[in-house]
Amino acid sequence: VISSEPLLQVRGLTKAFGGMKALNDVTLEVRKGEILGLIGPNGSGKSTFINVVSGHFKSTAGEIVFDGRTLTGMDAHRFAQAGIARTYQIPRPFGQMTVLENVAMVGMFGGEGLSRAEATKQAEEFIAFAGLSHRAHVLPEDLNLHQRKFLELARALAARPKLLMLDEVLSGLTPSEINEAIEMIQRIRDRGTTIIFVEHVMRAVMALTDRIVVLNYGSMIAQGNAVDVMNDDQVKAAYLGK
Ligand code: ADP
Ligand code: MG
Repeated sequence: VISSEPLLQVRGLTKAFGGMKALNDVTLEVRKGEILGLIGPNGSGKSTFINVVSGHFKSTAGEIVFDGRTLTGMDAHRFAQAGIARTYQIPRPFGQMTVLENVAMVGMFGGEGLSRAEATKQAEEFIAFAGLSHRAHVLPEDLNLHQRKFLELARALAARPKLLMLDEVLSGLTPSEINEAIEMIQRIRDRGTTIIFVEHVMRAVMALTDRIVVLNYGSMIAQGNAVDVMNDDQVKAAYLGK
Protein backbone atom coordinates (compact mmCIF):
# COMPACT_ATOMS: atom_id res chain seq x y z
CA VAL A 1 0.00 0.00 0.00
CA ILE A 2 1.47 3.32 -1.05
CA SER A 3 0.87 6.15 1.40
CA SER A 4 0.39 9.74 0.29
CA GLU A 5 2.97 10.68 2.89
CA PRO A 6 6.49 11.26 1.61
CA LEU A 7 9.27 9.23 3.22
CA LEU A 8 12.08 10.97 1.35
CA GLN A 9 12.10 14.52 0.05
CA VAL A 10 15.06 15.71 -1.96
CA ARG A 11 15.19 19.35 -3.06
CA GLY A 12 17.67 20.92 -5.43
CA LEU A 13 20.13 18.13 -4.75
CA THR A 14 23.48 18.78 -6.43
CA LYS A 15 26.80 16.94 -6.24
CA ALA A 16 29.81 18.35 -8.04
CA PHE A 17 33.13 16.60 -8.59
CA GLY A 18 35.41 19.50 -9.43
CA GLY A 19 33.54 21.43 -12.08
CA MET A 20 31.38 18.49 -13.14
CA LYS A 21 27.90 18.19 -11.69
CA ALA A 22 27.23 14.47 -11.33
CA LEU A 23 23.86 15.44 -9.83
CA ASN A 24 22.32 18.72 -10.88
CA ASP A 25 19.41 20.29 -8.99
CA VAL A 26 17.36 17.12 -8.53
CA THR A 27 14.03 17.53 -6.74
CA LEU A 28 11.87 14.50 -6.02
CA GLU A 29 9.80 12.72 -3.41
CA VAL A 30 9.44 9.05 -2.56
CA ARG A 31 6.26 8.05 -0.78
CA LYS A 32 6.04 5.44 1.96
CA GLY A 33 5.59 1.97 0.48
CA GLU A 34 6.53 2.99 -3.04
CA ILE A 35 9.06 1.41 -5.39
CA LEU A 36 10.63 4.26 -7.33
CA GLY A 37 12.65 3.27 -10.40
CA LEU A 38 15.72 5.43 -11.03
CA ILE A 39 17.07 4.96 -14.52
CA GLY A 40 19.34 6.70 -16.99
CA PRO A 41 22.33 6.02 -19.23
CA ASN A 42 25.74 5.12 -17.77
CA GLY A 43 27.25 8.09 -15.98
CA SER A 44 23.91 9.87 -15.55
CA GLY A 45 24.28 10.11 -11.76
CA LYS A 46 22.27 7.16 -10.40
CA SER A 47 24.98 5.78 -8.12
CA THR A 48 25.88 9.33 -7.08
CA PHE A 49 22.26 9.86 -6.06
CA ILE A 50 22.46 6.74 -3.87
CA ASN A 51 25.82 7.81 -2.46
CA VAL A 52 24.48 11.25 -1.52
CA VAL A 53 21.13 10.00 -0.16
CA SER A 54 22.93 7.43 2.00
CA GLY A 55 25.34 10.07 3.33
CA HIS A 56 28.39 8.43 1.73
CA PHE A 57 29.01 11.59 -0.27
CA LYS A 58 28.20 15.06 1.04
CA SER A 59 25.92 17.03 -1.25
CA THR A 60 27.26 20.24 -2.78
CA ALA A 61 23.84 21.91 -2.57
CA GLY A 62 20.27 21.02 -1.81
CA GLU A 63 18.34 19.39 0.98
CA ILE A 64 17.57 15.83 2.06
CA VAL A 65 14.60 15.32 4.38
CA PHE A 66 13.86 11.77 5.50
CA ASP A 67 10.91 10.74 7.62
CA GLY A 68 10.43 14.38 8.59
CA ARG A 69 14.06 14.94 9.60
CA THR A 70 16.65 16.99 7.76
CA LEU A 71 19.75 14.87 7.15
CA THR A 72 21.61 17.24 4.84
CA GLY A 73 25.32 17.38 5.67
CA MET A 74 25.22 14.62 8.28
CA ASP A 75 27.53 11.59 8.41
CA ALA A 76 26.64 8.27 6.79
CA HIS A 77 25.95 6.60 10.14
CA ARG A 78 23.21 9.18 10.83
CA PHE A 79 21.56 8.29 7.53
CA ALA A 80 21.79 4.61 8.48
CA GLN A 81 20.36 5.31 11.94
CA ALA A 82 17.46 7.18 10.37
CA GLY A 83 16.58 4.02 8.42
CA ILE A 84 18.32 4.29 5.05
CA ALA A 85 20.22 1.28 3.65
CA ARG A 86 21.78 0.71 0.26
CA THR A 87 23.57 -1.94 -1.75
CA TYR A 88 26.74 -1.25 -3.70
CA GLN A 89 26.90 -1.69 -7.45
CA ILE A 90 30.07 -3.65 -6.81
CA PRO A 91 29.46 -5.89 -3.77
CA ARG A 92 31.65 -5.04 -0.78
CA PRO A 93 31.50 -7.90 1.70
CA PHE A 94 34.08 -8.32 4.45
CA GLY A 95 36.32 -10.90 2.80
CA GLN A 96 37.66 -12.52 5.93
CA MET A 97 34.21 -13.26 7.41
CA THR A 98 31.68 -15.92 6.47
CA VAL A 99 28.39 -15.05 4.81
CA LEU A 100 26.60 -15.44 8.14
CA GLU A 101 29.13 -13.26 9.99
CA ASN A 102 28.87 -10.62 7.26
CA VAL A 103 25.14 -10.29 7.83
CA ALA A 104 25.37 -10.62 11.63
CA MET A 105 27.86 -7.71 11.72
CA VAL A 106 25.11 -5.38 10.55
CA GLY A 107 22.86 -6.27 13.49
CA MET A 108 25.72 -6.01 15.98
CA PHE A 109 27.31 -2.78 14.82
CA GLY A 110 24.35 -1.10 13.11
CA GLY A 111 21.74 1.00 14.91
CA GLU A 112 20.21 -2.00 16.65
CA GLY A 113 23.29 -2.97 18.65
CA LEU A 114 22.23 -6.61 19.01
CA SER A 115 24.27 -9.17 20.92
CA ARG A 116 26.27 -11.64 18.83
CA ALA A 117 23.70 -14.37 19.53
CA GLU A 118 20.74 -12.17 18.61
CA ALA A 119 22.46 -10.81 15.52
CA THR A 120 23.36 -14.32 14.37
CA LYS A 121 19.79 -15.52 14.80
CA GLN A 122 18.50 -12.54 12.83
CA ALA A 123 21.19 -13.04 10.19
CA GLU A 124 20.09 -16.65 9.69
CA GLU A 125 16.60 -15.40 8.85
CA PHE A 126 17.84 -12.86 6.31
CA ILE A 127 20.17 -15.40 4.75
CA ALA A 128 17.29 -17.83 4.42
CA PHE A 129 15.18 -15.07 2.86
CA ALA A 130 17.98 -14.46 0.34
CA GLY A 131 18.21 -18.19 -0.43
CA LEU A 132 21.74 -18.46 0.93
CA SER A 133 21.29 -20.79 3.92
CA HIS A 134 23.36 -23.49 2.24
CA ARG A 135 26.23 -20.97 1.84
CA ALA A 136 26.10 -19.45 5.35
CA HIS A 137 29.51 -20.71 6.44
CA VAL A 138 31.60 -20.03 3.36
CA LEU A 139 33.61 -16.90 2.61
CA PRO A 140 32.20 -14.37 0.14
CA GLU A 141 35.02 -15.21 -2.31
CA ASP A 142 33.50 -18.68 -2.64
CA LEU A 143 30.14 -17.29 -3.75
CA ASN A 144 29.15 -16.87 -7.38
CA LEU A 145 28.01 -13.46 -8.65
CA HIS A 146 24.34 -14.20 -8.05
CA GLN A 147 25.03 -15.26 -4.46
CA ARG A 148 27.25 -12.21 -3.84
CA LYS A 149 24.44 -9.93 -5.03
CA PHE A 150 21.97 -11.65 -2.71
CA LEU A 151 24.45 -11.35 0.16
CA GLU A 152 24.49 -7.58 -0.49
CA LEU A 153 20.71 -7.64 -0.26
CA ALA A 154 20.73 -9.68 2.98
CA ARG A 155 23.22 -7.23 4.51
CA ALA A 156 21.06 -4.25 3.56
CA LEU A 157 17.93 -5.96 4.95
CA ALA A 158 19.66 -6.77 8.22
CA ALA A 159 19.70 -3.04 8.94
CA ARG A 160 15.86 -3.23 8.88
CA PRO A 161 15.68 -0.09 6.75
CA LYS A 162 12.66 2.06 6.04
CA LEU A 163 14.23 2.97 2.71
CA LEU A 164 16.27 0.47 0.72
CA MET A 165 18.27 1.68 -2.28
CA LEU A 166 19.28 -1.05 -4.72
CA ASP A 167 22.11 -0.23 -7.15
CA GLU A 168 21.97 -2.56 -10.16
CA VAL A 169 21.47 -5.72 -8.12
CA LEU A 170 20.36 -7.62 -11.23
CA SER A 171 23.27 -6.93 -13.57
CA GLY A 172 25.04 -10.09 -14.66
CA LEU A 173 22.29 -12.42 -13.45
CA THR A 174 20.64 -15.05 -15.67
CA PRO A 175 16.98 -14.64 -16.65
CA SER A 176 15.81 -17.15 -14.04
CA GLU A 177 17.96 -15.52 -11.35
CA ILE A 178 16.41 -12.19 -12.32
CA ASN A 179 12.92 -13.67 -11.90
CA GLU A 180 13.88 -14.93 -8.47
CA ALA A 181 15.24 -11.49 -7.52
CA ILE A 182 12.11 -9.71 -8.77
CA GLU A 183 9.98 -11.91 -6.50
CA MET A 184 12.32 -11.27 -3.60
CA ILE A 185 12.15 -7.50 -4.08
CA GLN A 186 8.35 -7.70 -4.26
CA ARG A 187 8.34 -9.54 -0.94
CA ILE A 188 10.58 -6.88 0.62
CA ARG A 189 8.13 -4.19 -0.46
CA ASP A 190 5.16 -6.25 0.76
CA ARG A 191 6.74 -6.19 4.21
CA GLY A 192 6.53 -2.40 4.14
CA THR A 193 9.95 -1.30 2.94
CA THR A 194 10.12 1.65 0.55
CA ILE A 195 12.55 1.05 -2.31
CA ILE A 196 14.59 3.10 -4.78
CA PHE A 197 15.43 0.72 -7.59
CA VAL A 198 18.36 1.64 -9.84
CA GLU A 199 18.44 -0.84 -12.68
CA HIS A 200 19.26 -1.37 -16.34
CA VAL A 201 17.20 -4.56 -16.68
CA MET A 202 14.08 -2.95 -18.12
CA ARG A 203 11.69 -5.84 -17.63
CA ALA A 204 12.47 -5.72 -13.91
CA VAL A 205 11.92 -1.95 -13.86
CA MET A 206 8.57 -2.51 -15.59
CA ALA A 207 7.57 -5.34 -13.25
CA LEU A 208 8.51 -3.68 -9.99
CA THR A 209 8.23 0.08 -10.09
CA ASP A 210 5.26 2.29 -9.29
CA ARG A 211 6.91 5.33 -10.84
CA ILE A 212 10.11 6.07 -12.73
CA VAL A 213 12.53 8.99 -12.61
CA VAL A 214 15.01 9.39 -15.46
CA LEU A 215 18.40 11.06 -15.02
CA ASN A 216 20.66 12.28 -17.80
CA TYR A 217 23.96 14.08 -17.14
CA GLY A 218 22.88 14.49 -13.51
CA SER A 219 19.57 16.18 -14.26
CA MET A 220 16.08 14.75 -13.99
CA ILE A 221 14.68 14.72 -17.53
CA ALA A 222 11.42 12.83 -16.97
CA GLN A 223 9.27 11.18 -14.35
CA GLY A 224 6.01 9.27 -14.46
CA ASN A 225 4.69 5.82 -15.21
CA ALA A 226 6.68 3.39 -17.33
CA VAL A 227 4.73 3.93 -20.54
CA ASP A 228 4.90 7.73 -20.42
CA VAL A 229 8.58 7.72 -19.55
CA MET A 230 9.51 5.27 -22.31
CA ASN A 231 7.63 7.35 -24.87
CA ASP A 232 9.23 10.60 -23.77
CA ASP A 233 11.32 12.15 -26.56
CA GLN A 234 14.06 13.39 -24.21
CA VAL A 235 14.34 9.93 -22.69
CA LYS A 236 14.58 8.26 -26.11
CA ALA A 237 17.26 10.74 -27.16
CA ALA A 238 19.22 10.20 -23.93
CA TYR A 239 19.31 6.45 -24.48
CA LEU A 240 20.32 6.85 -28.10
CA GLY A 241 23.16 9.08 -26.92
CA LYS A 242 22.13 12.15 -28.91
P1 ADP B 1 25.65 6.04 -12.99
O1 ADP B 1 25.54 5.30 -11.71
O2 ADP B 1 24.35 6.64 -13.46
O3 ADP B 1 26.28 5.21 -14.08
P2 ADP B 1 27.51 7.70 -11.53
O4 ADP B 1 26.67 8.34 -10.50
O5 ADP B 1 28.39 6.58 -11.12
O6 ADP B 1 26.61 7.30 -12.78
O7 ADP B 1 28.46 8.80 -12.18
C1 ADP B 1 27.97 10.07 -12.59
C2 ADP B 1 29.15 10.90 -13.01
O8 ADP B 1 29.92 11.24 -11.87
C3 ADP B 1 30.10 10.19 -13.97
O9 ADP B 1 30.58 11.13 -14.89
C4 ADP B 1 31.20 9.71 -13.05
O10 ADP B 1 32.42 9.58 -13.73
C5 ADP B 1 31.26 10.80 -12.00
N1 ADP B 1 31.69 10.32 -10.68
C6 ADP B 1 31.04 9.40 -9.91
N2 ADP B 1 31.70 9.20 -8.76
C7 ADP B 1 32.78 10.01 -8.80
C8 ADP B 1 33.85 10.28 -7.87
N3 ADP B 1 33.91 9.66 -6.69
N4 ADP B 1 34.80 11.18 -8.26
C9 ADP B 1 34.72 11.81 -9.45
N5 ADP B 1 33.73 11.62 -10.34
C10 ADP B 1 32.78 10.73 -10.03
MG1 MG C 1 26.00 3.35 -11.20
